Amino acid sequence: MVEIRIHGRGGQGGVTLAKLVAASRFLQGRSVQAFGLYAAERSGAPVQAFCRFDDAPITNRNLIYEPDHVIVLDPTLVGPTIAAGLRPGGWILLNTEDPPDAFGDRFPHNRIATVDATAVARGHGLGTRSVPIVNTALAGAVGRMLGFPLNDMLAAVEHLGFGGANLHAARDAFDAVRTRDAPWDPTPLDTPAPGPGFGGVGRTPGFVEGAGGERPRIETGRWASEQPRRQQFVPPCNHVCPAGNDVQGFLHALADERIDDALEILLRTTPFPSVCGRVCPAPCMASCNRRDLDGAVDVRDLERLAGDRGSARLVPAEARDRHVAVVGSGPAGLAAAYHLALFGYRVTILEADTVLGGLLRTGIPDFRLPPDVLDREIDRILALGVEVRFGGAVDRRRLFAVAQEYDAVLVATGLQQARSLHLGVGDDDGVEQGIAFLDRIKRGHGPHLDGEAVVVVGGGNTAMDAARSALRLGAASVRVVYRRTRAEMPAIAEEIDEALDEGVEIDFLTQPLAVRRSAQADGDGGQPELVCRRMALGAPDASGRRSPVAVPDSEFTVGCHRLILALGQSPDLAVFPEGTEVREGAELLGILETPVYAVGDLATHDGTVAGAIGSGRRAALHVHQTFTGRVEVDGDRTRVRSDVDEWHDEVIRTDALRAHLFERQAPAHAPTLGLRDRRTTFDEVHGGLADAADARRCLSCGVCNECDLCVTYCPEGVLKRVGHDLVFDYAHCKGCGICVTECPRNVVFMNHL
Ligand SMILES: Cc1cc2nc3c(=O)[nH]c(=O)nc-3n(C[C@H](O)[C@H](O)[C@H](O)COP(=O)(O)OP(=O)(O)OC[C@H]3O[C@@H](n4cnc5c(N)ncnc54)[C@H](O)[C@@H]3O)c2cc1C
Ligand code: SF4
Ligand code: SF4
Ligand code: SF4
Repeated sequence: MVEIRIHGRGGQGGVTLAKLVAASRFLQGRSVQAFGLYAAERSGAPVQAFCRFDDAPITNRNLIYEPDHVIVLDPTLVGPTIAAGLRPGGWILLNTEDPPDAFGDRFPHNRIATVDATAVARGHGLGTRSVPIVNTALAGAVGRMLGFPLNDMLAAVEHLGFGGANLHAARDAFDAVRTRDAPWDPTPLDTPAPGPGFGGVGRTPGFVEGAGGERPRIETGRWASEQPRRQQFVPPCNHVCPAGNDVQGFLHALADERIDDALEILLRTTPFPSVCGRVCPAPCMASCNRRDLDGAVDVRDLERLAGDRGSARLVPAEARDRHVAVVGSGPAGLAAAYHLALFGYRVTILEADTVLGGLLRTGIPDFRLPPDVLDREIDRILALGVEVRFGGAVDRRRLFAVAQEYDAVLVATGLQQARSLHLGVGDDDGVEQGIAFLDRIKRGHGPHLDGEAVVVVGGGNTAMDAARSALRLGAASVRVVYRRTRAEMPAIAEEIDEALDEGVEIDFLTQPLAVRRSAQADGDGGQPELVCRRMALGAPDASGRRSPVAVPDSEFTVGCHRLILALGQSPDLAVFPEGTEVREGAELLGILETPVYAVGDLATHDGTVAGAIGSGRRAALHVHQTFTGRVEVDGDRTRVRSDVDEWHDEVIRTDALRAHLFERQAPAHAPTLGLRDRRTTFDEVHGGLADAADARRCLSCGVCNECDLCVTYCPEGVLKRVGHDLVFDYAHCKGCGICVTECPRNVVFMNHL
């Protein structure tokens, strides 16, 4: 952006000159502004006018304190203040009969041009003898000085409705300009470097030492009763993320297209951004304030984008001499191992299976979480030096041995026991547990279900995944039986929609009672048949929840070739000494002196990957604290700014934001695989976002994102950005509070003195 300040006297046409220069640029397709600063000034009083032009739209509306160039219409105005804030190397155009050299000593850091516009105007009869109108002549001179073609300036004169003498004056002044230096040349003269810039939109109104003259300022004095200050709240997305991610922080980096920075912010809390970016139920999106405007920010897909495309890595701290065992390599165990390794500890994972990843590896189907994505994130953890020992479950006896060998033990064995409904059958060919069914498929031993009718019992992710997988294995029909309504289904809402889209049928309010073999048994038992009854929602209980109650005489049977049970899992506590109370954060006693903690689903029953990751991180912090006595401030992940006066632990909601200041913009949508492929292949269904544009929809709730609106609108020009910090000049701040009303995210507030 180029900014020009014009000094003249009332009646000389300074504002028109600003308009003429602006019009010359506007006609070349640029964005422009032209305005004056005067109130009740009489004719002849000193006045100022301003002109801006830029290729980009101009949003800054304040006065120009640091002009690129200055134009002086009356030589008697020449004094130190006309160069106040003038950029080093900028032009000063003076209306005078003197040559530029006459001013060289007074403005050593600037380029100087002079033109006798008064003589030119008088020569063409413009204005009166005592008050000649010099603006059109000076417009021509400005064109010459800044290297614009004469025709541009003449077009501007005509555009504003002037003709004849004005065009001649512009042409004559264009030719008559005398310059001490080369025409417009962006290379600064030999001058001091300007002060710190704003690093964002808008221009610093700060005074640049040595640029020629001090900006006149009025000290606020002691009458100020209020001063603006900065605060920070907790964005709701950060508050609810079970993994503890700094959501606002990584979105801010993505909005600036700093993908590696975004990934680095995520890696501080999670080793699994690409995994969570695919399978997390995303409570961050459910609580996103942007929902109240035009739809939640697509945090999950943006996390996936950062994870998939970023290449940042965290460097572990210096090696420490403690050795920690982690039992189980699901997301909880792996997250704990990752954070312990980053702290510098030696970590060994003891895994009963022959593969790493827990249910990420053996449960969640490839069409939601491709194995190469998981491999990549696990490799990043192993690259920190984490060791793995496969083979053999850790049981009660082995746990004692492990506790002897290591300095701390984290047990993250998940929920291993599939619940049964005692429907009257054991597992045989026709009846199978959902997690066993999915495990078989993940290991490449999925059955062919061509033409089969499959019934799945349950309402969680396992039920949805089993049903969707059965369709892909060729089942003719897949029916899910669930005893409550859709609102109570624990599966991720999108997964339910996708299952329905793919052709899965769901019988809500249907309770399975028993499994029996069909009457048409041909020798050794027929197909399984599920006996069900209808349910209805009863009266609300004390919590207001309506539990399902049986509808009398509503029993019916559902025939099928295969029945899959997906009723949830519970922990296998046989790994602990009898009577151990398994609770997150509680040290499990009775195993030598070694601290032993339970982690992940085993301890929390949370049932989400992000929850397991958060539990793993907390456990690592706990162990670190036990070893060092140092409390790591986990809750302060986002308190990285140095310019905040007050931190609030409060979550900020939409009504505390200035929502009217945000433009409405529809959310981005990631593509999905066509339905035909979804019925026949295990290819990934979600394609992910094409770019990070949706991150720019983040409102940055309660956290300064350096949008600089407050800086732009401060009428006193006393608020500026220095690096990433906002700096108020309280000696000159008048306490008008405009910065407060212009901050869309409630970061600036008025403090009563
Ligand atoms: C089919 C399915 C789909 C799911 N979909 C989603 C989803 O979309 N989004 C979501 O957020 N959550 C989902 N979940 C839940 C999520 O997978 C779990 O909450 C998460 O994996 C729990 O992590 P964990 O580390 O505590 O346990 P697990 O992932 O169960 O890992 C436990 C590990 O411990 C090992 N182990 C067990 N016993 C021993 C022992 N005695 N000795 C040594 N090792 C042992 C196991 O082999 C395993 O590797 C899904 C779950 C299932 C079953
Ligand atoms: S882990 Fe889940 S809740 Fe957390 S930021 Fe990612 S998508 Fe949101
Ligand atoms: S708008 Fe941004 S900061 Fe606010 S809740 Fe949504 S994701 Fe979080
Ligand atoms: S207006 Fe923008 S730069 Fe100023 S405090 Fe608010 S968020 Fe930060």
